[in-house]
Amino acid sequence: MNEPEQVDLVVIGAGMSGLRAASVAARSLRVLVLEKLDEVGGSARLSAGMFWLPPTMAAYDEHVPHGDRRLAAAVLAAYDDEVAQIRASGVFVAEEPHRQVMGWGRGYSTDIRPYLLHMRDQLIARGGTVLTDAGVTEVERRGGHFLVRFERGGAVAQVVASAVVLATGGFQGSAALRAELLPQVGPDILVRSNPGSRGDGLRFGRSLGAAEAGDTGSFYGHLIPHPIASWSPEQFFHYSIYFSSHAVLVVADGRRVSDESRGDELLNQDLAGVPGMRGFVIFDESVRSSHALSEPFPNFVSLDRLRYAMDAGARHAVAPTFEELADRLAGFGVDREQLLRTLRGDTTRSFLASRLERAPLPEAGQLAELRTPPYYALEVQPSITFTMGGLAVDTTARVLGGDGAPIPGLYAIGCDIGGLSSYGYAGGLAPAHITGTAAGRDAVRYVHSGSAPGAAVG
Ligand SMILES: Cc1cc2nc3c(=O)[nH]c(=O)nc-3n(C[C@H](O)[C@H](O)[C@H](O)COP(=O)(O)OP(=O)(O)OC[C@H]3O[C@@H](n4cnc5c(N)ncnc54)[C@H](O)[C@@H]3O)c2cc1C
Repeated sequence: MNEPEQVDLVVIGAGMSGLRAASVAARSLRVLVLEKLDEVGGSARLSAGMFWLPPTMAAYDEHVPHGDRRLAAAVLAAYDDEVAQIRASGVFVAEEPHRQVMGWGRGYSTDIRPYLLHMRDQLIARGGTVLTDAGVTEVERRGGHFLVRFERGGAVAQVVASAVVLATGGFQGSAALRAELLPQVGPDILVRSNPGSRGDGLRFGRSLGAAEAGDTGSFYGHLIPHPIASWSPEQFFHYSIYFSSHAVLVVADGRRVSDESRGDELLNQDLAGVPGMRGFVIFDESVRSSHALSEPFPNFVSLDRLRYAMDAGARHAVAPTFEELADRLAGFGVDREQLLRTLRGDTTRSFLASRLERAPLPEAGQLAELRTPPYYALEVQPSITFTMGGLAVDTTARVLGGDGAPIPGLYAIGCDIGGLSSYGYAGGLAPAHITGTAAGRDAVRYVHSGSAPGAAVG
């Protein structure tokens, strides 16, 4: 496919948010999408397709108390209309919403892969271009335009654009940015996302004077068994310990780190803040035979997660009493006597978890989940799917500069935006789609308003 030399809009990243922004803008702009990987879809094509959000602002405030309410209100207001638009594409969208996503969210199951291809095809039908294997390396401001450099087929190419959308999916894949912005997390954390999202959007934004927003120390992911023989995208769901909210999580000193009942995505972040990032989820037979077998929401993967982990080589123990379980875990380096005190009601937080100010203390009530022997212990480690901090934007996805004013022609969407989720997780696909719509529409307004200079790049 030929590479255009000048376009109205370059979208960097062909995942959920980028494809949406591009297909919306292509109604009236010349749009080029550049995708680093050899196929479109980003993490969205690996996802479960649950298009969900907090049901109300009150629920958002409760579950994401440090989040950006201004962004949340804008995203929630657009949600029903965006669901209707996905449904209108002809792709499967469940008739009824599921009301327990992550235990509290409201969302519709969607057939996400066909929908991503639908957006790509719609973009092309509207005259847009998508280049895969085209990783952007640099975005420069030149005379009011943007000069976008990218690598393709071993060569460096460039395109001039009036506006640019950063849709690169977060910085989880960059060890350097994790070390800078997530210093509490060890360098060997498992990355549970597409391999292309390495913080390029954040770097480009920084180089153009963007401000940052949100808690860069927060991220979404799930607990994963440890050790495991292999780690590939097809296994992400199979390994995820969604049921840990029905377990207790102990670390080497035999103590718990936080209140497990809030959800695996929070426990995952808590364990990442413990030096060494290893712990054991302990649960009973009734949890193993129910929550550990069931799918976390409809149209998902239902399997025996403990069996899958054991077959992959994860350290585990099964015992008929707390004493025998403690004997087994002592063999794995866990403090036996303290573990027994913990299982009998001691809720003192682990001294290894000293950096977890934001996580609520362990609750004695959670121990009621441990009532039916045998008892199981499974070693776990954290993983990172996307980062929650990122670029500062307004509600039309315009990137804000250090002075708080929008940087003309520059947008950020999806996981390149900071602050909507903040320790608490407020959804991935729906915020990406909705911010993509906002950026696509505003880019049309920007380019047609004449705000974008018409001069060629010097
Ligand atoms: C296993 C898994 C399950 C999930 N399940 C759900 C779910 O059910 N519901 C939900 O709401 N969320 C879910 N998510 C999260 C959801 O997929 C993401 O939040 C969403 O895809 C984010 O959209 P995005 O456009 O920001 O990033 P992505 O969809 O990840 O797209 C980013 C794209 O940018 C590309 N890119 C990066 N850098 C460059 C560059 N320099 N040049 C060109 N291209 C670049 C990447 O290669 C990638 O293709 C899941 C994620 C995973 C991994």
